[in-house]
Amino acid sequence: MAHSQDGGGPLSCCSVRLLTSTADLVAWRRHEPERPLHFVPTMGCLHRGHASLLKRAAEPRSGGPSPRVLLSVFVNPLQFGPDEDYERYPRDLEADRALATAVGADALFAPSPAALYPGGESQLSRVLAPPALATVLCGRFRPGHFDGVATVVCRLLALVRPQRLLLGEKDWQQLQVLRRVIRDLGLEVAVEGCPTVREADGLACSSRLRYLGAAERGRAAAVARALAAAADLHRAGERQGAALIAAAREWLRAAALEEDYVELVHPLSLAPLVEARGCSMLAVAARCGDCRLIDHLVLMSRPPIVAIDGPAGAGKSTVTRALARRLGLLYLDTGAMYRALTWWVREQGVDPGDAAAVAPLLADLDLRLLDGTDGEQQVLLNGHDVTAAIRSPEITALVSTVAAHPCVRDALTAQQRAMGSRGGLVAEGRDIGTAVFPDAECKIFLTASVAERARRRALDLAERGFPVPPQAELAESIAERDRLDSSRAVAPLCQAEDAVEVLTDGLTIEAVLTALEDLFRERVPADAWPGPADLASP
Ligand code: C5P
Repeated sequence: MAHSQDGGGPLSCCSVRLLTSTADLVAWRRHEPERPLHFVPTMGCLHRGHASLLKRAAEPRSGGPSPRVLLSVFVNPLQFGPDEDYERYPRDLEADRALATAVGADALFAPSPAALYPGGESQLSRVLAPPALATVLCGRFRPGHFDGVATVVCRLLALVRPQRLLLGEKDWQQLQVLRRVIRDLGLEVAVEGCPTVREADGLACSSRLRYLGAAERGRAAAVARALAAAADLHRAGERQGAALIAAAREWLRAAALEEDYVELVHPLSLAPLVEARGCSMLAVAARCGDCRLIDHLVLMSRPPIVAIDGPAGAGKSTVTRALARRLGLLYLDTGAMYRALTWWVREQGVDPGDAAAVAPLLADLDLRLLDGTDGEQQVLLNGHDVTAAIRSPEITALVSTVAAHPCVRDALTAQQRAMGSRGGLVAEGRDIGTAVFPDAECKIFLTASVAERARRRALDLAERGFPVPPQAELAESIAERDRLDSSRAVAPLCQAEDAVEVLTDGLTIEAVLTALEDLFRERVPADAWPGPADLASP
């Protein structure tokens, strides 16, 4: 096989740079260290699905410099079983080069097995993929497959050291396994799953479709029809897994496809589900002649809900608002509702600690949250615009007392649930994941040290034109508010069992947002809820 001069010759200005040895790769990676490196690992025989990953990989993130895009083409022997199609897996490096060039990738790494595993395969250190994810679905039929995938991807990541790894959602189980491996091993790379690209008849693009003759290709399309039939049934209100599975099976059987599995699973844990509630996934694997086809369908009973809880000053408002925009969801600041009520309590000269005196104010409370022009939610209470007034230190000092009354919690929780009854929002507060929307698809517990939160609160107060107390005083009042919020009898501030804690000390807002978006995407695939970026992509 040709070496580095292959890509460095006179054609290098218009052809993707070909790297075939690890030395080539390491040398190439050292150039332009100021540009982020985005990596798309493939087994080659590239199609439109790969092209879409490569185009996505070329997009600059968060106003940063345009990234360099590297793709690898490597048919990894470790992930094929002894009776599988390693030898005959389609290989066409020239066509791959042409496609990579056409989409503007910067380099293509195509090592031989000996170049990637110089000590041979038998003595190679291996990565054991997390068994709960790797031994279900395809793992049942392809023992060791995901260990092989995890091993090659870790090996490639160690060589390439990209900032971002882009993988297709089409191979959802592989994506979830790799996300977990990367997190468990603490590898510093962001993982991005990209929407599935499909053929005209609905089949997901796949290199293995090349195995199929015309007649088989026609039969294979039954996989897409099977999923579409289940989707129709779900739309009509069917929630029982058995019924959805049966609808899909009928199509496979009619086309004489041999089923490996049809299962309803949770998209994050891949554990089997009896009912399709919230976000679930119908996964299919079937064989058509020698070709094994896999596909899945994400079923959502309503648009997703993201619950962001955490103590005072953890940066929830800024982050929640921006995340809602990124994901095309509505933003709900429930703290503003407790603040608005507290403002009204003061206005009416009622003692904030006296529940019996506060209760009558709830009866005809007209509390509205509107989209403000600068992105901040506009808060109207009984006809007054209280958007700015509710941020005052006086309100901040009293709000936890008002928010602790059971009658207040009942009234505002009911209103919040009504606002979220059709889903489609990112809500922040203290009890969103525990009490208001316990069935939220994605729950985050956003926190930071008291010192960091006091620092942020000082900046916020200054920005809003309020006097800024000394740091120690701010820290003390924040700690007191946390104490009140966490110790109240009804819906106290605490981390939901299924929430992920995100500690934001030392992180930029952009970094927090990326982390939250990644957590969301693990639970709600772009295939099911495309964000504005997915919709803009060709
Ligand atoms: O988030 P923010 O600082 O605006 O919240 C103000 C107060 O409202 C909190 O300290 C808490 O006492 C109360 N709150 C609550 N439950 C929520 C949101 C806010 O008790 N879901």
